Amino acid sequence: MTKPSNSLHERLRALAQNLWWTWHPEVIHLFTDLDPLLWRQVDHNPTAFLNRITPEQVEERAAELVLHSRINYAFRRLNEYLEKTQTWGNIHCGNLCNRPIAYFSAEFGLHESLPIYSGGLGILAGDHLKSSSDLGIPLIGIGLLYDQGYFTQLLNRDGWQGEEYVDFDIGQLPLQPVSDASGKPLIVRADTRGGFLQARVWKLQVGRVPLLLLDSNVEGNSGEDRELTSRLYGGNERVRIRQELLLGIGGARVLQALNIFPGVLHLNEGHSAFAILEEIRRVMEYDQIPFHRARRRVALYTVFTTHTPVPAGHDRFPAGLIEEHLGPFREKLGLSHDDFMALGRVNPGDKGELFCMTVLALKNSRHANGVSAIHADVSRLMWHPLWPGRPEWEVPIGHITNGVHVLSWLAPQMHQLFETRLAYDWPTRMVHPDVWDKILDIDDGELWETHQNLKMRLIRFVRRRLLQTAQRLGDQEAAQQIDQILDPDILTIGCARRFATYKRADLILSQPERLAKLISDANRPIQIIFAGKAHPRDDEGKRMLQRIAQSFTNPAFRKRIVFVENYDYNVARHLLQGVDVWLNNPRRPLEACGTSGQKVVLNGGLNFSVLDGWWNEGYDGANGFAIGHGGMHNDPNVQYQRDADYLYETLEKEIIPLYYERNATGIPHRWVVRMKAAMRSLGWRFNADRMVKDYAERFYLPAASATSVETR
Ligand SMILES: *Cc1c(COP(=O)(O)O)cnc(C)c1O
Repeated sequence: MTKPSNSLHERLRALAQNLWWTWHPEVIHLFTDLDPLLWRQVDHNPTAFLNRITPEQVEERAAELVLHSRINYAFRRLNEYLEKTQTWGNIHCGNLCNRPIAYFSAEFGLHESLPIYSGGLGILAGDHLKSSSDLGIPLIGIGLLYDQGYFTQLLNRDGWQGEEYVDFDIGQLPLQPVSDASGKPLIVRADTRGGFLQARVWKLQVGRVPLLLLDSNVEGNSGEDRELTSRLYGGNERVRIRQELLLGIGGARVLQALNIFPGVLHLNEGHSAFAILEEIRRVMEYDQIPFHRARRRVALYTVFTTHTPVPAGHDRFPAGLIEEHLGPFREKLGLSHDDFMALGRVNPGDKGELFCMTVLALKNSRHANGVSAIHADVSRLMWHPLWPGRPEWEVPIGHITNGVHVLSWLAPQMHQLFETRLAYDWPTRMVHPDVWDKILDIDDGELWETHQNLKMRLIRFVRRRLLQTAQRLGDQEAAQQIDQILDPDILTIGCARRFATYKRADLILSQPERLAKLISDANRPIQIIFAGKAHPRDDEGKRMLQRIAQSFTNPAFRKRIVFVENYDYNVARHLLQGVDVWLNNPRRPLEACGTSGQKVVLNGGLNFSVLDGWWNEGYDGANGFAIGHGGMHNDPNVQYQRDADYLYETLEKEIIPLYYERNATGIPHRWVVRMKAAMRSLGWRFNADRMVKDYAERFYLPAASATSVETR
């Protein structure tokens, strides 16, 4: 429980210390009410906010604004949340209580003020922690603390992406140092052939769930290693393997040092797969059994989730790097170099094959899954060579489709509407379809007005951002015209994602004349908001981004196509909550799941997407729009042309007419019907509570009971 405290400043500090506030907008509003300007200056970071305002100032402002009772109420709610014992997890996951799930991930996306994520994978991990907390599932997150995070994106006048890395000050984050049994700061260590790597450990509290983060910036490490955990996905493969050594082996050792013996190891993507090896080593030592037996035992309680069918997304290391970094460890396991390499090779006899982290994870986990049905199909095909004796459909990779943490992504205005129309306790029952049936009772006008308000809020946000960009680039003309950019009465399409080439963000620009006609139509125009980062070393992605940025110089597009820099949690929140249509057109079947569209649904936007990932499961003909019919062509160029045609045709014939068809009160009645159909048919399925429950019922509980039988 959070310590009782008297001053308002202390109570706010207690609220800021637990990331529970990230999904309780009423806490964020306390800060924005206290000092909106300061809130912006500190980049939405409550700890930094409280470091810059004195207790006296808080008292004074709170008295003026009558905030006492709201602060006290929020503080009480947090404590009630932390003390609650009647949770889903307590009722259903009793046998996990003393042996929690250790959830490893290279990134965690929890809020924009904690830049330890780059995109979808991290946000998913953050949502997994938050729902585990809400459900009361005993889970501990393990990751790395990147003190420069991912980069800040700045485009130059030619639309070329530049990257800036900014050190953030650890003192401005709600991190608590983790101590060992003797009360000294905990340091974990991994030996390599050339020396050793060390890390200290920090804890972030995410509701009821702790997140432990390893940080290599400690004395005793070489200068190079002190920077090892500076940047997310920043280095070459040497940096990469050292980061993964720290995450996997270091992470598992943190748990041991804290006397935590996990009932389940869950590896979110292959980056952390070395954790399996450390767990095997521990079991060998503890039970005095040989490698092969310990390996079989650990596999019983290991869960592995793979996240991408794109080959570059699976880390592979050459034998030399593996031997250099895991040589001493391999000797402890009693394995020869070849036997060790075989753990990460599809074909153990192939001496030329690299060591693949995904292979290591797949070979050593009893439970493996993709993140949508179609992704699991592709994964079974992709990894079939690991099970040569079986038909492809018996390759043991199932699927649990991703979902999003609803309270993190739902706009407060929409939340209010749900609270009055669905049921006051709807957030605890959101996996039940009948809760969402009540969406139909919401008044059309009320829903539309809420949506329009959110759209206006988005437009103001975009203008503010574009003004900053124009000022930075010294573009007076653009700065003066900011208020003419975008219009809330125009059909607004959002398209934001990583600029990987397979995501084809420029598809909608592929027929410029056709697009120009749609954009400048006198009666039924459209406007588009783009955002997204390209990987710093992906020049092809950067060129695609540049093509989009340069299209604004076309006068026809100027006020109606915009690019918002630095796509992150904050930009995503504004976009997803305010657009009419969310466009997603990756090359099928390369989108593993996609989750941004799920966030859009909750807020009343409609998906317009290729039938890939989750949309292939969610689309029913009446709850959004599809690009094409789920076909694929071997030649990506042919597929590109076809999908572009589908995209334009659906816009011209279906989406635009529907949006602009208004009834006597100015409401697009048939559009609103579709908004409701989307919320009602998708909300209960594609949320993270449903996802985490699936993991618990299908993987965590069976895995944990397998271990208890085994150890008996
Ligand atoms: C949700 C989210 C993602 C993942 O969405 P995709 O549909 O996979 O593109 C990526 N980045 C941010 C900031 C998000 O909020």
